[in-house]
Amino acid sequence: MPRPIQATIHVPALRHNLNQMRSAAPGAKVFAVVKANAYGHGIERVYAGLNGADGFALLDLSEAERLRALGWIGPILLLEGVFEAQDLDVCSRLNLWHVVHRAEQIDWLAAHAAAKPHHVFLKMNAGMNRLGFRPDEFRAVYTRLKALPQVGGITLMMHFSDADRDHGIDAPWATFAHAIAGLDAPRCVCNSAALLRYGKRPELRGDWVRAGIALYGGSPDYPAHDIRHWGLEPTMSLNAQLIAAYEIGAGESVGYGSTFTADRALRIGIAACGYADGYPRHAATGTPILVDGIRTRTLGRVSMDMLAIDLSPIPRARMGSEVTLWGRSSAGAVLPIDDVADAAGTIGYELMCAITARVPIRPDPAPVIA
Ligand SMILES: *Cc1c(COP(=O)(O)O)cnc(C)c1O
Repeated sequence: MPRPIQATIHVPALRHNLNQMRSAAPGAKVFAVVKANAYGHGIERVYAGLNGADGFALLDLSEAERLRALGWIGPILLLEGVFEAQDLDVCSRLNLWHVVHRAEQIDWLAAHAAAKPHHVFLKMNAGMNRLGFRPDEFRAVYTRLKALPQVGGITLMMHFSDADRDHGIDAPWATFAHAIAGLDAPRCVCNSAALLRYGKRPELRGDWVRAGIALYGGSPDYPAHDIRHWGLEPTMSLNAQLIAAYEIGAGESVGYGSTFTADRALRIGIAACGYADGYPRHAATGTPILVDGIRTRTLGRVSMDMLAIDLSPIPRARMGSEVTLWGRSSAGAVLPIDDVADAAGTIGYELMCAITARVPIRPDPAPVIA
């Protein structure tokens, strides 16, 4: 048999989470953000769950090609815009919307022979200092873009650095609102955190929202709120099996570096999952994990291909018992990916993007074969 580890993508849960984001954004259209191959889930695997969105947002032209190949004819937004002038030919061919965040991108547009004018998203740097034009140059850039025959429409866009924590959004929002006052154009402001935490304010929801992590069953502001609080469901499960289970005595250690030593006799299990599968090596002793749907903890260091588990709460566990690294057990018990990420000093986003190629991934439900 193949090594007993498998990831599952839950299509109905994607659909459910998209509906949750839609209810949080009345009056706004929803981009499903599918960058990084749909946060590690696979664009082709999530498509059936997310094709009820109003548009898709991503970074790579190749990912846009894949969406068009799936039959998507609606909006696709390139969140970082084009990387060189020739990319505009692909935008014209595939009818892609693209972010404009640097003057060079406007120069390329001005020189582009567009068959049809492009819709662009003009991005402001409202304090995060990642991408975008400064507030004091924004209006002049808007005016220049608007005058180009290659531009058919402009949506005003910004991104928050602190929407997920108490520091909040007031200062960048005030900067943005002041700089765009009087400009008659649609707006696109919120990511998952901003929408869920501040979406009750219609001026923030704007015309388009960009939903990412929440679609994939991650809480954008964990640990302040978990996915249950936001009514979200896990969309990726990583399950394996125990390939050994036995007792160790008091004083015996587990794993590389002997970082865990038992203070009493203890039954342990060894799961067929390690950091070469994408499980975080920095998950320390005590990281939550399910065995037969029952929550317990990891022991010692994560190896490349295995990790050790405390079986005290599951005396009946044995070789072949189901281990849930995150997501859902086959009987439906849930271990949110955020709980595991937190124990490893990271965020759910990173874990779902990091599943490695050797892990077989199956969609749930399986696609109907005609
Ligand atoms: C990734 C990304 C998003 C989605 O963010 P989430 O926190 O996953 O909802 C939104 N906007 C931009 C510009 C992004 O790069």
